[in-house]
Amino acid sequence: MQPFLTEYCKLYNMATQEETFKKLVAHCKEYGFVFPSSEIYDGLGAVYDYGQNGVELKNNIKRYWWDSMTLLHENIVGIDAAIFMHPTTWKASGHVDAFNDPLIDNRDSKKRYRADVLIEEQLAKIEDKINKEVEKAAKRFGDSFDETMFRQTNPRVMEHQEHWNQLHERYSKAMNASDLAELKQIILDEEIVCPISGTRNWTDVRQFNLMFQTEMGSTADGAMKIYLRPETAQGIFVNYLNVQKTGRMKIPFGIAQIGKAFRNEIVARQFVFRMREFEQMEMQFFIKPGTEMEWFKHWKEFRLKWHKALGLGDEKYRYHDHEKLAHYANAATDIEFLMPFGFKEVEGIHSRTNFDLSQHAKYSGKKIEYFDPELNESYTPYVIETSIGVDRMFLSIMCAAYKEEQLEGGETRVVLQLPAVLAPVKVCVMPLVKKDGLPEKAREIMDMLKFDFKTTYDEKDSIGKRYRRQDAIGTPFCITIDHDTLNDNCVTVRYRDTMAQDRVKIEDLHELIAKAVDMKQLYRKLMA
Ligand code: ATP
Repeated sequence: MQPFLTEYCKLYNMATQEETFKKLVAHCKEYGFVFPSSEIYDGLGAVYDYGQNGVELKNNIKRYWWDSMTLLHENIVGIDAAIFMHPTTWKASGHVDAFNDPLIDNRDSKKRYRADVLIEEQLAKIEDKINKEVEKAAKRFGDSFDETMFRQTNPRVMEHQEHWNQLHERYSKAMNASDLAELKQIILDEEIVCPISGTRNWTDVRQFNLMFQTEMGSTADGAMKIYLRPETAQGIFVNYLNVQKTGRMKIPFGIAQIGKAFRNEIVARQFVFRMREFEQMEMQFFIKPGTEMEWFKHWKEFRLKWHKALGLGDEKYRYHDHEKLAHYANAATDIEFLMPFGFKEVEGIHSRTNFDLSQHAKYSGKKIEYFDPELNESYTPYVIETSIGVDRMFLSIMCAAYKEEQLEGGETRVVLQLPAVLAPVKVCVMPLVKKDGLPEKAREIMDMLKFDFKTTYDEKDSIGKRYRRQDAIGTPFCITIDHDTLNDNCVTVRYRDTMAQDRVKIEDLHELIAKAVDMKQLYRKLMA
């Protein structure tokens, strides 16, 4: 148990956060960010569509990632591999045999759960109990409160902590050994009940492969079983030789890719956090064996810098180093973001050794190596992977940006304080009234700006209502054209976050907006 949890409780009141999260989900739908997939048919479990504003935000996130890889690093190039791959790919990568989650069913509710998640939730409940004790004591003792001392001496906290430690150890052991019987026994011993039926009538724990399968080919006889890729990484590995040779790449070098991935998640929930179809941004960095810890450290730091550069709040990120390593990794960490439902993984950084390239060499019978001219020898490169989910990134940004503000006069405004560089719409141009040549002037200004910035036009309702509409989608600048504009060539610029207004010359608008929304400012931070 860590002292930061008290900080966390102070930062976020969980109950309110849950409410806010519900509101955020509703907001995403109401303002064209995210819709349930095929909603007219009641939707499809854990599949979502991005709407007109969502896709712009998502594209901006992707651009920030892509450019920070391929523009800022002369030794990183991109590819776009197909989703369908030869099925042997997934045998070689280990996904056919080992890409499983342990599932368990409740016989009464007929609901299916991930056994590991049930146990992790139990651990979280114990943590919660400890946090409540700590919070209560912090209130009671005020400034003189010594949290570390309290945790080490309070009998109730110590009892909970002991329970947590024992459970955690037992659970880690069972997961590492893939001991399914033990996982079930833990669930029974902890008296974990199904949240729907409230009973402990559990089936045995079974492994469930997360890959979607389909068939390629027209006849049943000649058809080949293929998979929808569960990660984009393998498209990079099988193209390693192609890119290295045609791009005359010298180690160390990286290959970046953005694309869809599919996982038949057993329990898919928390909106776009865990979906069955999602998008990944992955970069595999090929290095000399023996240098992997140095590069692992480098990418761990660079990736956190990338997140923090957006200014969502440094305290909302933390690393989570893996205790249980995947079969291919010799070091792994997650970058977690403080979502309303706790710190959650947004990105993984893995030192994948030479596992993937060696496996593909073995299964394809091809030599997949690098001739190092400096060493005058060939070797199978090692790999550091950075893997981030576009949708989780999208969610973390939306969670940080969504604000309900109490204004003077009792009014509330909902504002998305998105980083201006990522905002779906940068500028809204508004004529004060729909006559007297103001719409024409507004259109003129819009035409001047629209090649460089995503610009929208609004002439309906009062200016106040129009501002609110733009606040709700996170537009950083509103420009109002009034009667004076026709004489003095100045407009009113209203800023989203402060709601302050400035009179600005039309000729200065471009520079003002460019300064705030230019991604170069982020790139400079990354290179500093
Ligand atoms: P989790 O433990 O949450 O299932 P993971 O460790 O399996 O995630 P990775 O295989 O490391 O995830 O995938 C890299 C990234 O892809 C994750 O950090 C996450 O951002 C994203 N991702 C993985 N699974 C999903 C999903 N079902 N929905 C949305 N994004 C996902």
